[in-house]
Amino acid sequence: MSKLLDGSALAKKIRSNLKLQTEEYIEKYNIVPHLAVILVGADPASETYVRFKEKACNQVGIKSTIINLPETILEEDLIKEIHKLNNDDLVHGILLQLPIPKHLDSEKIINLINPKKDVDGFANENVAKLSKNQDALVPCTPLGIIRLLEEYEIKVQGEHCVILGRSQIVGKPMAQLMLQKNSTVTICHSKTKNLKEIAKQADILIAAIGNAHMVDDTYVKEGAVVIDVGVSRIDGKIYGDVDFDKVIDKVSYITPMPGGTGPMTIACLLENTLKCYINLVK
Ligand code: NAP
Repeated sequence: MSKLLDGSALAKKIRSNLKLQTEEYIEKYNIVPHLAVILVGADPASETYVRFKEKACNQVGIKSTIINLPETILEEDLIKEIHKLNNDDLVHGILLQLPIPKHLDSEKIINLINPKKDVDGFANENVAKLSKNQDALVPCTPLGIIRLLEEYEIKVQGEHCVILGRSQIVGKPMAQLMLQKNSTVTICHSKTKNLKEIAKQADILIAAIGNAHMVDDTYVKEGAVVIDVGVSRIDGKIYGDVDFDKVIDKVSYITPMPGGTGPMTIACLLENTLKCYINLVK
């Protein structure tokens, strides 16, 4: 039996379903779902991510517009751009590609995005709703991980899930989602003592720290499910947080890298865009 949680395969399946749904909605409402992606500056990694997102939108029939803004843009001009997109009835999702240059207040700007168009689920309204188990736009990476666990019927209820990383983008929303599924959740971060011992207690270990191959077999319990979120670029090569070759013999399931959480993140972005569209046009 394969141990792989194949994110590429599931993402492909999700995209085909979304393509059909998108066609039906376009037929019904005569409006094409539209995602606007704001890219400030020319960070090569961000440019690559934005291209992936654009390609995925095209594959399912969602229109995407990339708004390239200069690195030196004034905050007030970026805010004007956000207001313009908020007020455009033909734009259903708005994504601000992070990180943005340091002179811009990302927290402030994210919260100026209409929460109904907040496809990343980073705005306060969506964060609060998620924490209260209300219907929210949920950050794409944790949502993609939930979809993977569901697809492979991984037992979550009552299991101990250890999450490495406490960011707003991955760690914290991941914890909320696992709690909603009745997992017992521990979050570790850079100040955690005895991290390895805690990780070793995990039935489900989710590594989202950005520290290449830190998680080896000494961090993993026999039979654990291991989810690798981390992406580190070193000398042109990409590494996950998990040393796949060292842990594969111990795990029951594991996400490959690449082909695990990355494609699922993009699939869930499409899902969120369609969700925004439906809520706005119906
Ligand atoms: P982040 O905002 O930098 O957060 C990293 C978290 O990891 C922080 O909570 C930090 O602790 C913790 N941490 C860092 N080094 C650690 C260590 N040695 N031991 C324990 N904890 C440590 O990053 P992020 O946005 O959550 O992303 C995490 C990783 O996932 C990055 O590599 C990113 O590129 C990747 N990512 C992948 C996808 C995907 O689709 N696969 C999507 C998003 C992000 P403190 O809070 O104490 O600083």
